[in-house]
Amino acid sequence: MRSVVVVGAGIFGGSLALRLVSSGWDVTLVEQYPPGHVRAASGGESRLIRFAHGDNAWYTGSARRALDLWRELERETGTELLVPSGVAWFFTGLHGWGEESKRVLKEQGIAVELLAPEEGARLFPSFDGQGLASILFEPEAGVLRARDATRVTVELAIERGAHFVTGTAAPDGDAVLVGGDRLEADRIVWAGGAWLAGLFPELVDLRVTRQDVYFFGAPAGWQAPSIPGWVDFDNGVYGVGDLDGRGFKASPDREGPPFDPDAGERVPSEEKEREAREYIALRFPALAGAPLVGTRSCPYSLTEDTNFLITPHPEHEHVWLFGGGSGHGFKHGPALAEYVEQLLSGEEEPSEAFALGARPPGGGLRAPWIER
Ligand SMILES: Cc1cc2nc3c(=O)[nH]c(=O)nc-3n(C[C@H](O)[C@H](O)[C@H](O)COP(=O)(O)OP(=O)(O)OC[C@H]3O[C@@H](n4cnc5c(N)ncnc54)[C@H](O)[C@@H]3O)c2cc1C
Repeated sequence: MRSVVVVGAGIFGGSLALRLVSSGWDVTLVEQYPPGHVRAASGGESRLIRFAHGDNAWYTGSARRALDLWRELERETGTELLVPSGVAWFFTGLHGWGEESKRVLKEQGIAVELLAPEEGARLFPSFDGQGLASILFEPEAGVLRARDATRVTVELAIERGAHFVTGTAAPDGDAVLVGGDRLEADRIVWAGGAWLAGLFPELVDLRVTRQDVYFFGAPAGWQAPSIPGWVDFDNGVYGVGDLDGRGFKASPDREGPPFDPDAGERVPSEEKEREAREYIALRFPALAGAPLVGTRSCPYSLTEDTNFLITPHPEHEHVWLFGGGSGHGFKHGPALAEYVEQLLSGEEEPSEAFALGARPPGGGLRAPWIER
């Protein structure tokens, strides 16, 4: 039986542990905090699942495959993880990214509708399309209950036989040191999210930033799934309808300050709160003046080009680095686990797109924030 140690039980490591134990691997999963904990990127209440990725057909296919796997996980665990709200993209001008997304979605048989700005009123109880040129609506997209999904993924992995070790792991050559033990296995996978750069400072170049999200008290009629997730691509603001009574989520997506995911205080920016308020007052006029009912701060771990990091360690070929979620990784979790299983088994060659080393800035896998 092949053995693996996976460090990190966020959605990347948790999904991989579940995938591998389900395929008959002997799996040890090491995590320093309880799975689904709030310091991890995977510990937020909600994460968008959308298929549009500009002209990048690989990510579109991965997100679509993940949708099927999320549904499978729902069936296997008897939990409702997927909120089928759709996702609406707002564009302010003629748009290469939007056009390319539409083309790739159609090529892959994924539902997509191009709407005029005024048709936004079909999707939201109160909508002002000023400044918009078009809306791209993905009816099969939606929202994932991320924290719950992370927890049940790890629970199912344990139920299927994964050994769960609580502790903070450190690399030791081609092994893992945790709580005085040295763990060895056929494969070691470091899936440490925002902690990855600190674990391999000589190798891994990830920018870790604090990202603040804001929840506003919304009246009846603003609940997900009847309200779609939304992304204003050109203004770099996104949000989700009121999910499970948490409030209407809105957040400017531009990168926050550098952040220490262990010791950093999670006190959100007042400036971004003001921007979120201004945006929802403009776009969803009925929500103008809605009270702030909650906030969350989570770490982004950003690669320069927003592609993930999935690569063997240059000195230890059976040790793998798996991270760089870059603010858009959650939805892909179970599909990435399938992909990484193929890499670990040697059925697939590592891709240059996910390698270590310098990358060109940009990438366009998440809506860019453009200086106004
Ligand atoms: C505000 C915000 C909004 C986002 N929105 C979206 C979205 O809408 N859609 C989407 O798809 N994605 C979104 N993302 C991105 C997504 O959440 C991440 O890409 C994804 O959760 C990354 O998962 P991960 O497992 O790599 O990292 P994490 O969830 O951070 O997990 C890493 C885990 O490793 C553990 N760990 C680290 N080091 C050690 C160690 N040495 N020993 C033991 N354990 C260790 C940590 O405790 C942690 O639990 C968003 C992220 C943020 C912050």
